[in-house]
Amino acid sequence: MAEYDSKTFKSTTLYAITDKMWSLNIGASMLSWDMHTGAPEGGNESRAKALAALSSEAFALSISDEMKRALEELEDVQDNLDEITAAAVRICRKNYDSTRKIPIEEMRAYQELTANAETIWRNAKQKNDFAAFAPTLTQIIAYNKRFTTYRGFTGNPYNTLLDDYEPGMTTDELDAFFAKVKATIVPLLKRITEAKKKIDTSFVNRPISVKKQKKLAALLIEKIGFDLTHGQIRESAHPFTTSFGRNDVRITTHYYETEFLSSFYSVIHECGHGIYGQGIMDGIVDTILDNGISMGIGESQSRFYENMIGRSLSFWELIYPELMAIVGDEFKDITAKQFYEAANSARASLIRVEADELTYSLHVIIRYEIEKLLINGEIDVMELPRIWNEKYQEYLGITPPDDSRGVLQDVHWSAGMFGYFPSYSLGNAYGAQILATMEKDLDLKELIRSGNIGKITAWLRERIHRYGSIKIPSDLIRAISGEALNADYYVRYLTDKFEALYEL
Ligand SMILES: [Zn+2]
Repeated sequence: MAEYDSKTFKSTTLYAITDKMWSLNIGASMLSWDMHTGAPEGGNESRAKALAALSSEAFALSISDEMKRALEELEDVQDNLDEITAAAVRICRKNYDSTRKIPIEEMRAYQELTANAETIWRNAKQKNDFAAFAPTLTQIIAYNKRFTTYRGFTGNPYNTLLDDYEPGMTTDELDAFFAKVKATIVPLLKRITEAKKKIDTSFVNRPISVKKQKKLAALLIEKIGFDLTHGQIRESAHPFTTSFGRNDVRITTHYYETEFLSSFYSVIHECGHGIYGQGIMDGIVDTILDNGISMGIGESQSRFYENMIGRSLSFWELIYPELMAIVGDEFKDITAKQFYEAANSARASLIRVEADELTYSLHVIIRYEIEKLLINGEIDVMELPRIWNEKYQEYLGITPPDDSRGVLQDVHWSAGMFGYFPSYSLGNAYGAQILATMEKDLDLKELIRSGNIGKITAWLRERIHRYGSIKIPSDLIRAISGEALNADYYVRYLTDKFEALYEL
């Protein structure tokens, strides 16, 4: 593997500034990691103070006049820049513009608003009281709309928000993408609901002690190949991955005694994110490019390990003997095939984070359509509960009994994260397209069954992980598969998998 040369980038002023930012951000992330994974509550306030100081210092550098000069200097010779320097310029310019184009007082007011919004949302969700969150949400949307005007947009204003999470993505592309996805999943789900074959999932709630689940997590980490000499696993309320650069990537999980599959698949999912982080090439380690390329490509990797590898029959066959040795007699009547089927059962459900592989994207389509309406001012916030419920009825055939399990379920909007949701579905679709290409080179079933997942990782590393954020998603997917994002792979993958599973 030829290494990219980062010597030129490292001789620039831009590098010197971003290097300082990188260290400040690592300090802030370490504090945040600690807060979420068991640091004593008594120290929260002190840590929050230190964290805020580190983050604001890094933020100030990212929008400083020094940064402006460093960017202009390189932009003057743009055509002669190597790929690494050009990527750093692209990322820093976007950061700089997205903040500096917004009047500073408005930015401050918005930050204050969103800092308090999560608590307001959480209380509203707990009390099932949408009206209590509506005024805050209305303001957050109004700011985001104004910000798209300041920042500028092509076509739909929502494109500017999408671009923050998936560089280059547009509503035109997503509309076509989701139309295809919807046209496949909605009827497929209906056929599954009416299918003769029913999958038995009753045994998945048999209790497994946390102690045993921890052993299981260690087994999964070993089989999947997350490197614990450059990584770590801890527990947190919600599973996540955080990277302190390629050489130290941390993951978390959460154990529920009567839902062992929850931790089982969160471990594999986060290992997928972690392996991506651990695969970055030498030349860009500990720089601002030592990071994933986009939310969508990030999810394509975590979901590849979770679904394409972890939810395959071959994987269950691989781990079955060792799994049984850990969980013991409790599951002695269950075969590898039964575990596999239960882990893939599909049904309409209310909650996105608990949705299965087939229906997941339907939850995302609903949010995408609603966000577009909101940002384009086509609906009023007070109409949200009604519109949400109508869409759940239309796409999934179910209506949420209350707003807590409906429009109030996700944290994203309280943080102003509009444009984020589509990344989850794009991740699924990139994953299927990557899989179709990989299958031309590798016999996945055989590699998984024989415990050679490392060969799959090597394939992904060579084409995706090593680049960090040097490339943009559309170039990357084209370089891997020879074509742009194409939803056909995703819908074919789902159709083949679920028709076989449910004997349709
Ligand atoms: Zn993820």
